Parts: sequence; C-alpha cells; structure tokens
Amino acid sequence: MDADLQQRRSIEAGLRQALQRGELRLVYQPLLGLAENRVICVEALLRWDHEGRTISPTEFIPIAEETGLIVDIGEWVLREACKTVASWPGDVRVAVNLSPIQFKSKDLVSVVKSALADAQIAATRLELEITETLLLAENDTNLAALHDLRAMGVRISMDDFGTGYSSLSYLRSFPFDKIKIDRSFMRDLTSRGDGQAIIKAVVGLGQSLGMSTTAEGVETEEQLEMVRAHGVSEVQGFLFSPPLPPAALANL
Ligand code: C2E
Ligand code: MG
Ligand code: MG
Repeated sequence: MDADLQQRRSIEAGLRQALQRGELRLVYQPLLGLAENRVICVEALLRWDHEGRTISPTEFIPIAEETGLIVDIGEWVLREACKTVASWPGDVRVAVNLSPIQFKSKDLVSVVKSALADAQIAATRLELEITETLLLAENDTNLAALHDLRAMGVRISMDDFGTGYSSLSYLRSFPFDKIKIDRSFMRDLTSRGDGQAIIKAVVGLGQSLGMSTTAEGVETEEQLEMVRAHGVSEVQGFLFSPPLPPAALANL
C-alpha cells in the first residue's frame, strides 16, 4: 500500500472514533464589522487533536465527506457552536461551515432547529456558510433547505467567493445575506493591479444585491486599508485575530 493511501486509511479509522473520544474541538475566529468597529460575528472552525498532533480541517474534512462521517461531525459542530454563542454577550453571531453532504441527509433543517432550541438562542444569531459546490448540481432540494433555513431567520453566507468558475450565477440563485471574498484575493491585493478592481466589483455587487461582504485572510494593515476604502462590511484574518479557543475569545 502506498504511503498516501496508508495515511488516508489511518485518518479514516481515527476519524470514526474522534467524536466518541472527544478529540474534536472548535476554535473561533472573530469577524470585525468595520462600520461598527466591533466583533459582530465569530466563525467556528474545527480542529482534531489526534495522536499528539492537531490535524487541520483541510486534511480531514474531505475524508469525512467521502465517508459520510461529516453528517454526525457537522451536527456536533452545530450544537457545540450554538451552545457556545449562548454564553456570549449581546447579539454577537456565530458562523458555522456546512458541507454539501449535510444537505443530503434530509433532516438538516430539523437538526438546525433542534440545535437552536437546545441552546436557547435566536435563529438570527446563527450564520451558515456554504460554498458554491452546494449549488453546482442546481439541486432543488438544497435550495429548498436554504430557503427554509433563511425563513427561520438563520443567515446564509457564500464562503470562498471567487474560487469557483461561475460564481456570479450562484448569487442570482439564492438571496445570500453575506459574500465572503476568498482570501486568495487578499494575497493579490498588493501584488497585482487587478486585485483591487475585483474587490471593488464584488462589494458593488453585494451592495446592489443587498448582501454584506467580508474580506477573508486580511493579514496586513495595507490590505485592511484597501478593503476598507472599497467599502467591505467585515474583515476576518490574522491581522485582527487568529482562530482562538473559546476561553481566549472571552478576552476580546
Ligand atoms: P473557511 O471556512 O474559508 O475558513 C477560513 C480559513 O482561513 C480557516 O482555516 C482560517 O484559519 C483561515 N484563515 C483565517 N484568517 C487567515 C489569514 O489571515 N491568513 C491565512 N492564511 N488564513 C487565514 P482552517 O481553520 O484551516 O479551515 C479551513 C477550511 O476547513 C475552512 O475554510 C472550511 O472550509 C473548512 N472547515 C473548517 N471547519 C469546518 C466545519 O466545522 N465544517 C466544515 N464542513 N468545514 C469546515
Ligand atoms: Mg468559512
Ligand atoms: Mg472561506
């Protein structure tokens, strides 16, 4: 068996037990509202502590999706994030990433309802982040679920915007509350002339469609000033804060 396959098998076997063993945890990265000048939302990001190291979601989420384990893991994330936001002050919202696989299990909407009810938080404090792969199949069931969630008061964000190939048509297919501009555009902002033009265009698009915009991956003051000048609503990135354990977040 080649090394890659062996590594995959071992991740898969470990992942099957990660929930029961309590090896999964959430870290939280704040999103700063530029007009409000305060944290208005915090994104929950999964971490897996396994055999002495912390495994990144980019490594294990694809395997969790292929094996279907993401359905249970994703439900745990939702419940955990809702419980955590219940302990935060005021109206700070929590954002949770959803995998397209979670939409295949028919009861996603009831899982969200139950997570909100158990944590006793208003639906308006929850944001769900999806990527355009969810809409790729032009699946009516997925769209219906999104509409149901939004009707409950949950906000829906388009994550990693601009990384796919026909993003613009997806913005027409659903009334997203927020567009999160992929962090690859931040990298280009200072090195490529077209970077700023793209940010400006996406912000304009968001404004005319009634969607707020978040710049992901803001790492420098220079990037912050540029996205601010173009009217981005929120920023997220290492400049402001890395993802933090819930206890550390309380200090913000
Ligand atoms: P994402 O949803 O786009 O999350 C943002 C990622 O960018 C996070 O990586 C975050 O740590 C990273 N990031 C934030 N600010 C900066 C910055 O200034 N510079 C750089 N270089 N990176 C920054 P992370 O935590 O490794 O998560 C990666 C991806 O894994 C997420 O991308 C999301 O697609 C997925 N993911 C994480 N948690 C979950 C989950 O609970 N469920 C699902 N389905 N996917 C998840
Ligand atoms: Mg996200
Ligand atoms: Mg993203």
